[in-house]
Amino acid sequence: MAAFSSPQGNYCANCGTSLDPGTLVCSKCRRFTHARELEEISTRARQFAATGQLAAARDQWLAALQLLPPGSNQQRAVQREIDKLDQKLSPQKTDWKKRLGPLGILIAALVKFKSAILILLTKGKFLISILAFLGLYWSLFGWWFAVGFAGSVLLHEMGHYFMVRRFGFAAELPMFLPGLGAYVKWNGVNVDPGIRGQISLAGPLFGFISGLISYGIFLSTGHGVWLAVAHVAGWLNLLNLIPVFIFDGASALNAVGLQGRLALLLVSLVMWYMLRENLFLLVALGTGYRIWKRDFPPEPRQGIAYYFIALAIANGFLSWFSFNRAHLLFPR
Ligand SMILES: [Zn+2]
Repeated sequence: MAAFSSPQGNYCANCGTSLDPGTLVCSKCRRFTHARELEEISTRARQFAATGQLAAARDQWLAALQLLPPGSNQQRAVQREIDKLDQKLSPQKTDWKKRLGPLGILIAALVKFKSAILILLTKGKFLISILAFLGLYWSLFGWWFAVGFAGSVLLHEMGHYFMVRRFGFAAELPMFLPGLGAYVKWNGVNVDPGIRGQISLAGPLFGFISGLISYGIFLSTGHGVWLAVAHVAGWLNLLNLIPVFIFDGASALNAVGLQGRLALLLVSLVMWYMLRENLFLLVALGTGYRIWKRDFPPEPRQGIAYYFIALAIANGFLSWFSFNRAHLLFPR
């Protein structure tokens, strides 16, 4: 296998050809003269590497490098092992940046920029739209309101998104439309009305939770802007429950039968009377229209009706309560 030395010189272990000292490969059979040594060295190197002794592993590979003919595949493979270990061993990546000076910093920035561009290209619509959304409300009402409001809308949309994914459908990340709102794109054609209802109502549910969170932030910080976010969250999610057009309420009501719609109509009118919130009148009018239209489902879902009514009451009270709290705290 390996070359053996004798006083007369080296001979190939494979074919016995006599070799000049320092020859790494047999001129006759092309076998590496140090094949056995190399095998032992590589075994040791891998053992060192496996036990985390990277420097020792590197030394072994360096020794192997001396025994391999330059330009051979094996030599290149060993060099790759050394390079890999060098990367792991070098304590800071800034070394090459320092060596290259300003050019290195520029290259590092470009590498970071490239990954930022990749993120933008894949999640770009989502990011750009949420930034535009933030920018608009920042310029209108200040930074904290913009953050709270965008967070609230994002949570509403993520409610839809999670529910779509939970039922095993594909969905895109939310798109923000500055000044209008946001939406999650998914294909709901031929989906059971009960499931569609749950997906639609998950938005106002998560939106309501976002309002509660804002209210909690207000309680712990005392900043009135979070009261404003809580109020707007309740208001917007109630708006989304109007059961017409593209509002969440429209598709949710597809699963609700006559009884449930009558109950929603009644509750909305009572809430309108109690809280003087005109959105409840719009919910009542929309529900009345849907009763008149008679687009009832073959199998009404009582649960969706209760869910719908509970969300209308919860968001209505959230909006009303945080508005009045703000009025008491910050009178004009
Ligand atoms: Zn929604």
